[in-house]
Amino acid sequence: MKYGRTYNFSAGPAMMPEEVLEEIAAEMMNYRGSGMCVMEMSHRSKVFMDIAAEAEADLRKLMGIPDNYKVLFVQGGGTVQFAMVAMNLLKGGVACYVETGAWSKKAIAEAKKYGEVKIVASSKDKNFTYIPDCSDLDIPENADYVYICENETINGTTFFELPNTKGKILVSDQSSMFLSRPCDVSKYGLIWAGVQKNVGPAGMAVVIVREDLIREDLAEYVPTYMSYKTHADNDSMYNTPNCWAIYCCGKVFKYLQKTGGLEAMHQRNVEKAAILYDFLDQSKFFSAPVEKASRSLMNVPFVSPSKEQDAEVVAATKAAGFDNLKGHKSVGGLRASIYNAMPKEGVEALVEFLKKYEAEHA
Ligand SMILES: *Cc1c(COP(=O)(O)O)cnc(C)c1O
Repeated sequence: MKYGRTYNFSAGPAMMPEEVLEEIAAEMMNYRGSGMCVMEMSHRSKVFMDIAAEAEADLRKLMGIPDNYKVLFVQGGGTVQFAMVAMNLLKGGVACYVETGAWSKKAIAEAKKYGEVKIVASSKDKNFTYIPDCSDLDIPENADYVYICENETINGTTFFELPNTKGKILVSDQSSMFLSRPCDVSKYGLIWAGVQKNVGPAGMAVVIVREDLIREDLAEYVPTYMSYKTHADNDSMYNTPNCWAIYCCGKVFKYLQKTGGLEAMHQRNVEKAAILYDFLDQSKFFSAPVEKASRSLMNVPFVSPSKEQDAEVVAATKAAGFDNLKGHKSVGGLRASIYNAMPKEGVEALVEFLKKYEAEHA
């Protein structure tokens, strides 16, 4: 690859499109004649306000976000949203969660601090290797919302069908699949995504929330920053926002538009993931533990015959120029994160390498 870059299979922060990084580099010292870098600009300056407004407009176009939804840029990465969702949407009823792995567990633990939580479906029985049937969940009448982690980054599962929420609000953590495929926003009450997985730099979440869910009547003790209303009323500039992340994400939104939008990106992602899964399924050395119908197109966990050999494979891939293939400590094995910006050539090269490794070690 150019610049001596490696194929980086990190789960996040992760690869960004090379073309975007080049544009950012070209604008680094003097952004379009402003005489300064975006990192040095006042967030109240016209030049930065335009960057932020354009980023929002481009995201709206890209996803087809309806007018009755607000787009917010909130700091604190993904984790702050675990609390923010519960603080803002739990109104004395029950928060319903689908438990599909590490990130939904974290969301559940956080929500329990603010009210009653009910786990309406879980795949814990099989080590979170599938997405449970959510077509007929037992959702109480007083449910305030139904929450899913739409792509479990660590466990490698994805919802290909949204749950039947029986008319209740659907909340989705899309962090590790945001903008990887078309999304009908109108089916959700709130979508949020930490952007460092599939879009830009760490430290910010995009929140897409239906306007009627933004409340005026939050408890006094809710910190100002944790109220969606604060961000909605101030165009995400109540305080100094993560200017750099907004700028970089805006670049990626434009890049996605230019390369055919979300449908085209989805096609490329389907193709890329198939190259890896097809190899793993026919391999006698490697295997992918996730049930076929639930397999993530973004995060692909796989194992060799033993823990010892897993470690050897990770070391060998690293030496061959493939980075960050070690599986998450909670599941072990290996994991290839193949987000939007991972080129098809990267996946092909990895499969070639694993094939050769198998021939030599099986
Ligand atoms: C990474 C991740 C988070 C947490 O994001 P941070 O920015 O590290 O707080 C939450 N949910 C999912 C699905 C993730 O992949």
